[in-house]
Amino acid sequence: MTFRAKTIIGIALIEIVLLMFLVFSAMSFLSESNEKQLIQRANSTATMFVNATKDAVLSTDIATLDDLVREFMTLEGVQYVKIVRHDQVLACAGDMDLLERNMTIDTNLRNISDGIFDTRVPIVSAGINYGYIDMGFGTSAISNMLESAQKSIIGIASIEVILVAVFSFVLGTYLTRNLVRLTAATKALSERGPGFQLNDTSNDEFGNLARAFDTMSRKLNKSYTDLKLARQEAENACESKGRFLASMSHEIRTPMNGVLGILSLLEETPLSKEQKHLVKTATTSGGFLLTVINDILDFTRMESNTLMLENQPFNLRECIESVIDSFAPEAKRNDLILHCYIEGNVPPIVRGDSNRVCQILHNLIGNALKFTHEGSVTVKIKALVDENQCLIQGSVADTGIGIKEQSLEYLFDEFTMVDQSYSRTQEGSGLGLAICKRLCELMDGDIHVFSHYGEGSTFTFSINLELAGELLTHATPKATILEPELQDIRILVAEDNKANQLVIKNMFLNAGLDIDIVDNGLKAVEQVKSDNYDLVFMDISMPEMDGIEATQIIRSLDSEKMKTFPIIALTAHALTGDKEHFISAGMSDYLSKPVRLSQLIEKINLFLSDRVKNTDTLMIEKPTTLESTTLVEDSGKDTDSSVMADSQTHSIEPVNNSEIAEFVDETILVQMIEDTSAEVIPILIDHYIEESGARLSKIEMALKERDADLLEFEAHTLGSSSLALGNRALSIAARDIEKLCINNQKEEAFGLIPNLQIIAKRSLKAIVARKELGFITDSQ
Ligand code: ADP
Repeated sequence: MTFRAKTIIGIALIEIVLLMFLVFSAMSFLSESNEKQLIQRANSTATMFVNATKDAVLSTDIATLDDLVREFMTLEGVQYVKIVRHDQVLACAGDMDLLERNMTIDTNLRNISDGIFDTRVPIVSAGINYGYIDMGFGTSAISNMLESAQKSIIGIASIEVILVAVFSFVLGTYLTRNLVRLTAATKALSERGPGFQLNDTSNDEFGNLARAFDTMSRKLNKSYTDLKLARQEAENACESKGRFLASMSHEIRTPMNGVLGILSLLEETPLSKEQKHLVKTATTSGGFLLTVINDILDFTRMESNTLMLENQPFNLRECIESVIDSFAPEAKRNDLILHCYIEGNVPPIVRGDSNRVCQILHNLIGNALKFTHEGSVTVKIKALVDENQCLIQGSVADTGIGIKEQSLEYLFDEFTMVDQSYSRTQEGSGLGLAICKRLCELMDGDIHVFSHYGEGSTFTFSINLELAGELLTHATPKATILEPELQDIRILVAEDNKANQLVIKNMFLNAGLDIDIVDNGLKAVEQVKSDNYDLVFMDISMPEMDGIEATQIIRSLDSEKMKTFPIIALTAHALTGDKEHFISAGMSDYLSKPVRLSQLIEKINLFLSDRVKNTDTLMIEKPTTLESTTLVEDSGKDTDSSVMADSQTHSIEPVNNSEIAEFVDETILVQMIEDTSAEVIPILIDHYIEESGARLSKIEMALKERDADLLEFEAHTLGSSSLALGNRALSIAARDIEKLCINNQKEEAFGLIPNLQIIAKRSLKAIVARKELGFITDSQ
């Protein structure tokens, strides 16, 4: 309801109630006073008549009485007169009907129904009652008067109500019009900025209010213009600062790269120990200066909104692992444990800016290692996958020095370092976290910190990335670099899967190393005891004895070397906590399958680095010859060939390219070619087909005999070898069964076998068809 309607209705209601009360009280006052007057007049007239007629009544003088009666009849309002002595009417006058009816004496006007006020006065003389006089007075004059008074009072009241309503309508309209104008002016002020004027010239309170509003708006406008000017000046200054920083960083970066290049050339020349140390220090300082300069450049780009993120498909898991691997030597040097857990649902291929994702992780892990003197740094990555988006949530937790609560609020501000003292123990630009925050925000995410001073800190971040089907461009192969001193090392691989054996064997051949392979844990223990190995890559799930048990036996051997002997888990288990489990079981490190040659070499370099005397590195040339797997001790062949026969039939059946694309991940094959060679792939595929046939037969047997342990083992091995050769769908189906077995959901696991068999049939058919198309190396 509008303000105007409320005003009108409110005032009119009050007015109507008051006027009704006034009319009612005026009318009752009028009727009461008229009643009193009439009764008084009737009584005095009747008394007067008794006195005038008393003698004539006593002497029964009828003629005088008739005269007196006629005379009294002329008085105003008298309707009848009757003189009665001892029940005999001596004289009467007036309406006959009134004289003949049964008369009741009236005492007030309210009980009168015939319009006549009847009164009776006794004729008394010397104490003797001789009779009485009846008289009737008309009341119509009073009723008429009251009626017309009521009409005129109600008329006046109605006119007043109408006048008040009109006035309140006019007043309400005036008030609301001014309020509406003020509201519109305030709106205009908030929407278009200050300066709007009402220009009201009226002299009432509204005029004053409008003038006050105009003054406020004018003053605001002036302050606003001043502020805009000041902001513009500040922005200009900031832009010049940004331009200066950008151009200075750029100018410093170019010669700095030159200096570092020359230092690396200098490193190649014959130098004394002292000179080598100086060159190394100069290189480290130069490298640090370059990171600071790069941070400043990034930051100025972010400030001026010119930092653009790339949107290319990339391998997220590889990106995370490469950052972790790059910090492994530093962690080892400082006796810190660097854990990394990547949850199974973190998609391998996503679209986004891989360098920037690496940069966030790099900054956080770098800080964690920098500010932790003992204990561990734990990196955890998980994903919430939506239709074609995934939210990556990561955390980097350390057991380091922690951060005081008062420093947390400005930690992500630029150029912020908690330790501001001149004697700061750690170098840094104070830009890393500010850059991380901006990068997370650019990727629709965020970053937070939780810390207990003296106990450690946890940085959590989230970023949004698009899901991508597969890599469009093949990644450039990583250089396979092995320290020259490590060319004669002896490596043992314990792996039961023949296809995987062949892959690893050829990968190492590709890097110039000939390795030994055994196919279960028991043989691995025997082999380690009898031969002088430098490092063992150990599969976890193996028949006879698994990798964990084998490691524990090796560790318990009565030899000092075996206490620190590098045993690296090679496993397709990639569940959270697995790495911790392997490490606590005595393993030195962990690699998840499918492994890449670069990862194997990195681990060798990492664990055997103390054998390296000088820092020269050598590119190992890829040998072109292909060697098939030689087992230290052959365990006999898996013989069942139902799938193998099947696959041979499939190879002559036409398979279209979309089937191949659906069931064979080309990216994995490309990586495999990079790590081994194109010639080896068909042989690997043949081995894989043969072995998968055996696995599938065993899975069928497990189904018939309801043997869940056998099913778990075979599904695990099938999942691992099928992923190594790009049969991703088959690997997922096998892994699902394996997980159900681990969770003791046996019946559900058995229920998935028919589906696995269908996928296996199509996957193996597709990989055979892919083999027929042939493989080429990048250089071809
Ligand atoms: P810087 O280049 O100086 O490391 P950052 O922005 O990355 O710059 O970090 C800012 C400051 O935050 C550091 O100087 C340090 O005081 C504090 N800080 C960052 N990470 C940690 C951590 N993990 N533990 C303790 N302090 C940290």
